[in-house]
Amino acid sequence: MIVMKFGGTSVESAAAIERVAEIVSSRRSQSPVVVVSAMAKVTDQLVEMGQRAAAGEAAGALDLLSCLRQRHLATAQELLGTKRGAAVAPRLEVHFSELNNFLRGLAAVRELTPRGSDYLLSFGELLSSLLVADAFVVRRLNASWIDSRQCLITDATYTRAVPQMLATRSRCKKKISPLVHKKRIPVMGGFIGSTAEGVPTTLGRGGSDYSAAIIGAALEATRIEIWTDVEGMMTTDPRLCGDAKTIRRISFNEAAELAYFGAKVLHPATLLPAIHQDIPVYVLNSRNLKSTGTEITAQAPPSRDVFRAITAKSSISIVNVVASRGVMVHGFLRSVFEAMDRHGASVDIVAISEVSLSFTMETKRLPPALLNDLARIADVTCENEQAIICLVGEDIHGKPGIAASVFNTVARAGVNVRMISQGASEINISFVVKQSDVPRAVRALHEHFFPSARPAKRTRARKSKVPLPERMNGSGVKELEARSFREQETEVLAQTKSVAGAS
Ligand code: ADP
Ligand code: ASP
Ligand code: MG
Repeated sequence: MIVMKFGGTSVESAAAIERVAEIVSSRRSQSPVVVVSAMAKVTDQLVEMGQRAAAGEAAGALDLLSCLRQRHLATAQELLGTKRGAAVAPRLEVHFSELNNFLRGLAAVRELTPRGSDYLLSFGELLSSLLVADAFVVRRLNASWIDSRQCLITDATYTRAVPQMLATRSRCKKKISPLVHKKRIPVMGGFIGSTAEGVPTTLGRGGSDYSAAIIGAALEATRIEIWTDVEGMMTTDPRLCGDAKTIRRISFNEAAELAYFGAKVLHPATLLPAIHQDIPVYVLNSRNLKSTGTEITAQAPPSRDVFRAITAKSSISIVNVVASRGVMVHGFLRSVFEAMDRHGASVDIVAISEVSLSFTMETKRLPPALLNDLARIADVTCENEQAIICLVGEDIHGKPGIAASVFNTVARAGVNVRMISQGASEINISFVVKQSDVPRAVRALHEHFFPSARPAKRTRARKSKVPLPERMNGSGVKELEARSFREQETEVLAQTKSVAGAS
C-alpha cells in the first residue's frame, strides 16, 4: 500500500478536491491510504477564532465560524450536488455546533490552554477529511472515512505532540489495514491524533506531512507521497526566488536538514519515520499531474551544483550570554547548558568563547523563564527578528573555498552576518542574518550557487573565449574583473574535479 497526503491548497476548493479524486483514482491499484490537511487557511482561521474568543470577543469569533461553515457547506454542495450535499450537511453541522459551544465557553472563561487549542484546531482536518471522503464516494471511489484520533496515538505534549509508534501501529493495523485488504480507500485527517485516553492532540503546524509518514511507517507502506502546490523540493523557496528549480533526487539526510532549517514544504519531523523504515518519500504537485516531483531516498546521486538547496528559517532570536565580571569562568558553560536543559530549550546554532556564548532559538519557543535563569549567572541580551540561512549539500565536506564564497556572496549583497555555524553537521553551512535581509541574501546565494537556474541568455553571456592561462597571467585582467566571483569559482571547482578524476 501507499500513503498519499494532500496539503491545504490541494483541498482548498471543490475544483481542487476534484483533482485529488482524479489523482487518487489513478493510483487505485496501489492500495492508497489518503491523508488530508484542513482546507487552505482554515487552521489560521481557527487560531484567530480561538484568540478572539479568549479575548472575550465572542461575536467576532462566531462571525469567523459562520464564514468557515458557509465555505464548507458550499464546497460540499458543489462537490456532491444539492441532494447529497444536503444529506452530508448534518455530519458537518455536528462539528460546527461543537465549535460554537467551545468558542462561547472560551469567551466566558477567557483562557485558551494548549490542550484547548489542540481541540479547536482538530476541527480543520476533521471537516476536510469528511468532505474529501464523500467526494470520493460520489466519484465511485470506494472510500471510508477514518477518525485519525483513533489511529494516531501521541503523548500529551499539546500543540506538538510526540507520536507513540507502538500504540499507533497497533491501532492502524486494527482500523486501517482491514479496509485496505477489502480494497477500500481510507481517508483521514492529518495533523491530529489523540492521547491514549482519547484527548485530541496535534503534531504542530504543518504536521499533516508528519502524519502521513507516521501512518506510512505504521502500515509498512511502499511509498509516501506528499502532494502540494509546488513541483517538488526546490533549490530554494520559490516564493523567495523565482529561479528556484526542482530537485529530482535527494537523500533523506539532506531533505531532513532542509526541512529542519525552514523548507516549509515538509514538516521538520516528516522524514524520521521514513528513514527508520527506509520508505521512499515523493514530493509532488497536485496541480500538475505530469510532474515527476522529488524522490527522497537513503542515497541520492551527487548534485551537479555545490549545494543541493538553500533554506531560510525566520522568527529566530539570538540570545547572548556573557559571564558577568567577577564570575568564575570555570563552570560558566556548564551552568548555561544546565539552564537550557532545565527549560527543555531546543537550540539551533551555538557559538562559544571562554566567557560568552550565543545561541539561537525560535522566538516563540524561547521560554522567558530560561532568560531569567541565565540572568542570574550572566549578562543576557536578546535580539529578535533574526533568521537562519542554511545551505545544504552532501558533497561540501572537505572542499576548500566554499565557505569563503558563501560569505563573499552575502557580503556583496550588503548583508551583515551575525553568527556562523559550519562543521557541526557535515552537510550544512548555516548563519544568522536579520530577518529583513533574507530575500536579498537568499537570492544572491541562489544566483551564485545555482547558475544553471539562471535564464539562458545570461548563461550564454558568461562564456569566455579567452583561455584560462592567459586570463590568469594578467593579459585578461579586465575580463577577469568583469566576471563574477562565482564564475571563477565554478571554474576552479571544475578544474579541481578534473584533477581529482585524473589522479
Ligand atoms: P501544503 O499545504 O501542501 O502542506 P505548504 O505551504 O506547507 O504546503 O508547503 C509548500 C510551500 O513550501 C510552497 O508553496 C513553498 O512556497 C514552500 N517552500 C519553502 N521552501 C521550499 C523548498 N525548498 N522547496 C519547495 N517548496 C518550498
Ligand atoms: N492544517 C495544519 C496547519 O495548517 C496542518 C497542515 O496543514 O499540515 O498547520
Ligand atoms: Mg505543509
